[in-house]
Amino acid sequence: MVKIKLMLLSDDLLLDYKRCRRRAFLNVFGDPQDRDPQSEFLLKLRRESKNHANNILNQYYPVYHRPQAERSNRRVDFLLAKARETEALMRQGVECIYRGVLLNSADPHWELSTRYFTPSRIILLGTASLLVKRSGKSKFGDWSYYATSIQLGRRPKPEYKLLAAFYAKLLGTIQGVLPPLSQIILRRRDTYAVNLDYWLPRMQQVVSECISMLSAQCEPEVFISRQRCSLCHWYTRCYENAKSQQHLSLVPGVTPKRYEHLQTLGLDSLESLAAATPAHFGEVIENDIARQLQQQALSIIENRPLLKVNGVSNGDRFLPTASIELYFDIEAEPDRNLDYLLGVLLVDRQTNSEQFYYFLAEKPEEEEIIWQQFLALIHLYADAPIFHYSEYEVETIQRLAKLYNAPTTQIELLLSRCVDLHAEVIASVTLPVENYSLKTLAGWLGFQWRQQGVSGEQSVCWYDRWLKTGDRSFLDAILRYNEDDCRATRHLKDWLVDFLP
Ligand code: SF4
Repeated sequence: MVKIKLMLLSDDLLLDYKRCRRRAFLNVFGDPQDRDPQSEFLLKLRRESKNHANNILNQYYPVYHRPQAERSNRRVDFLLAKARETEALMRQGVECIYRGVLLNSADPHWELSTRYFTPSRIILLGTASLLVKRSGKSKFGDWSYYATSIQLGRRPKPEYKLLAAFYAKLLGTIQGVLPPLSQIILRRRDTYAVNLDYWLPRMQQVVSECISMLSAQCEPEVFISRQRCSLCHWYTRCYENAKSQQHLSLVPGVTPKRYEHLQTLGLDSLESLAAATPAHFGEVIENDIARQLQQQALSIIENRPLLKVNGVSNGDRFLPTASIELYFDIEAEPDRNLDYLLGVLLVDRQTNSEQFYYFLAEKPEEEEIIWQQFLALIHLYADAPIFHYSEYEVETIQRLAKLYNAPTTQIELLLSRCVDLHAEVIASVTLPVENYSLKTLAGWLGFQWRQQGVSGEQSVCWYDRWLKTGDRSFLDAILRYNEDDCRATRHLKDWLVDFLP
């Protein structure tokens, strides 16, 4: 066990703790060499976040001060220097401080309920996007400061509120008076005021728990969750760990809550879950879910697809086979609210041939043009079913129809031709996979993408690079990726038709 003399608990660490306890633990105790390299997508998000902050500054706070301390070898020295500068600027009474460092090294009022540390051995530290001056007494004079966090998200997520309360509390210690407000500016530049009465006690609780967990130095159990882990720099390390112990979080449908229930029921391995009967689950987990989890574990152990228990599949109704079929896949940049590629694979079953059509907005302003081109193609084959994999395609058709005023009857007809293969798979088949993404399913069925390891996020990065550089090789890569997605959808549909009774 590493003996900790001093603990630096930063806002970033707290944010990571809120997302995943294990992530905070590994950030402190993990071997840095085990970290994954930063993905292009993450770097893009960082750039966007910085640009967003600059835009807010230019628009609302064009005159600001910023601590200028030079980087030094020891990060803690650098931060201490910045914190001293920040406090000096507050004492001067400047109007606005950008990226001021707030630091609290020994404040008994934090009431940290940890068994392991005394507050004097903990440094709490946060870098608020902005500290804004307001009237009202503080130890500096007739003025004080409140914190504003600039965030890239669209909604005021709980973790943003937690950080806003953290900054407010640090400010309270530094200026001798708790600010009455703490606010968040979001992606669309809307401002959100955080309810500090509600969030301050919660934040202190989280800080205490985080310190206790770190002080105990006991590595939290792995739990792979696609949503939470996909952008985490410890993913490879955690995934290998989960894989080596056949961790139940790799079984689709096992959520953290259900995992807890399974533990209490003694169903803590793939084998025990696969062998479980309704009696094992009792009333702790609903019957339908219990049956599905059991079947999922069985499918993985036996490495074979199983027809879903009580599946609702109806091959004739859900999976039409027509002489002409269309397979549809979209590339989109949700942050820009832009669908930049509408790809359609036309399959002619009579001639046993395929033709890939694509409608690509080389500039974001061309979205309407590609939408009209897409509609023209779809109407040429008015009887062809349109297969896709996820709800996103239908949602996009609805969004674009509304945005560009397509006639309602035309769109209703179009939507009635759409067949979501993801919904069909979920309703009818259990496969020996870790998730039900198109990549995973088609990959298990033997389909190979021409470009390995590419994702929708990578496609977004390529599109971004195309816009910046004008290099058409990025567009070519996007088209190859989208075409393969359409072909993978067809591969899956053909397999389903064979497999379903
Ligand atoms: S990969 Fe997942 S489980 Fe591992 S640290 Fe990151 S978020 Fe936590």
